Amino acid sequence: MTKYIFVTGGVVSSLGKGLTAGAVGLLLESHGLKIALQKLDPYINVDPGTMSPYQHGEVYVTEDGTETDLDLGHYERFTNAKLPRDSNYTTGQIYNEVISKARRGDYLGSTVQVIPHITDEIKRCIENMDDEDVDVVISELGGTVGDIEGQPFLEAIRQFGLEKGRDNVMFIHLTLLPYLNASGEVKTKPTQHSVGKLREIGIIPDILICRTEQAMEEEHRTKIALFCNVPVEAVIEEQDVEHSIYEVPLVLREQKLDSQILKHLGIPEGDGDLSEWTAMVDTVCHHLSHVTEVTIVGKYIELHDAYKSIYEALTHAGITHNTKVNFRKVSSEEVEKEGAEKLLEGSKAILVPGGFGDRGIEGKISAIRYARENAIPFFGICLGMQCACIEFGRNILGLEGAHSSEFDKETPHPVIDLMEEQNEVTQKGGTMRLGAYPCEVMDGTRARKTYGQAMVHERHRHRYEFNNSYRDQFQEAGGVFSGLSPDGNLVEIFELPNHPWFVSCQFHPEFQSRPVSTHPLFREFVRASLVYAGVLENDNSAQKQPAG
Ligand code: GLN
Repeated sequence: MTKYIFVTGGVVSSLGKGLTAGAVGLLLESHGLKIALQKLDPYINVDPGTMSPYQHGEVYVTEDGTETDLDLGHYERFTNAKLPRDSNYTTGQIYNEVISKARRGDYLGSTVQVIPHITDEIKRCIENMDDEDVDVVISELGGTVGDIEGQPFLEAIRQFGLEKGRDNVMFIHLTLLPYLNASGEVKTKPTQHSVGKLREIGIIPDILICRTEQAMEEEHRTKIALFCNVPVEAVIEEQDVEHSIYEVPLVLREQKLDSQILKHLGIPEGDGDLSEWTAMVDTVCHHLSHVTEVTIVGKYIELHDAYKSIYEALTHAGITHNTKVNFRKVSSEEVEKEGAEKLLEGSKAILVPGGFGDRGIEGKISAIRYARENAIPFFGICLGMQCACIEFGRNILGLEGAHSSEFDKETPHPVIDLMEEQNEVTQKGGTMRLGAYPCEVMDGTRARKTYGQAMVHERHRHRYEFNNSYRDQFQEAGGVFSGLSPDGNLVEIFELPNHPWFVSCQFHPEFQSRPVSTHPLFREFVRASLVYAGVLENDNSAQKQPAG
């Protein structure tokens, strides 16, 4: 029988519920269990893909093409769980479904209400995760206990716990212990209040995970246990980690979080092997002997979460090379104003990420020109590849005014253009080329050497594509289309061979990178930056996976 863990949060948002849920997943996997992870988001958008990155950070794309909350990125980086469409539900999607059912007549005769119709629908979404071979479903509830829009979800999980039986369902509540500088004290009252709020609804948390800057004393543990009605050992400390978020699962395991969960759910303990993860964390904490810096030229650089998976993937690549990767975040609009030379000088590698809208586009294009002309390692992702093609068209082929028709409908040279199918699309939500597609990687190219295989699957999220009527011209001038869709129709990777490292791709490789298995393109890009900086020699060992 499938078991369920619900992760809720109290006191403040941004406590790291997503990564804690991922960490719990990793701990359970280490006991040989098959887990599934889910995020329930109380906001009303039906399509998380239509939210600005400034509001909610990056839109994470799953293998099956669902546009989701960035917490799903944590889930995939921490665990082996594959995340299907059911892994992310919003209030909007739940209401959408209930309203369609009501209009179809599924509830004929009834008044359609939050309880039971909305709560039933939420429970159905949770049960959708329950594939035959899944041992434990971990479902994280977005927002903070006490939020108005979170109420139906809390009510639904309360009912769920009752219906499935308390031995099969567990409630983990993540909370904050603020530290008051003036009095030098760690305070437990907000935690008591947020647990009180949960108990008002009828949910009694089984485990409290306390986020704290300062170490928790024994007296805090006993006090929280007493006031919140949990055993002392179920008060778990999650203090800010020193080096990396990847330390969190180990911190939780030290306090026997995994044993407590297994005991509650009646699952026998496995061997608890976390050696691969532990070795990776050891590298992060003690063996990052090199440093490099990657310059990211983007539109949303003020907000770290907007390019979350990219920063993580670069960090993974650093771990592979025993290297700490620092980020120089440069606004593409600033590049337009100040010039590439001034803002990019000294860069050891330049990355242009994906994006939408024309703000800062010319800055991205001039950053790419700067990387190309100065032989600085360059990596373009999605819009980054499109900009690399525009730059090549304009400055190598002399196609004046070359552009993407996304930004200039009248361009005489639409080197990037809308796909036929996309011309008919009018709805914005969930209508792009989304999810994993195969890509054939051409022999003799840098991409092929990097991947070490001829066929790969990568995730997409875009409307526009390279315009094939320019393919011959690009190739004649030395551009290489090193990745194509298997039918040869779509350009997936564009690279320049006469440059130390100039690779760009139409897909988002960052979504498949994990700290224990770095994505090859990021691995080699960061390597190229170390070679450029003179830290590593260019030994052409692209296919070797360095230790770490
Ligand atoms: N705006 C571009 C497109 O839709 C690129 C999208 C992206 O970078 N994710 O094709």
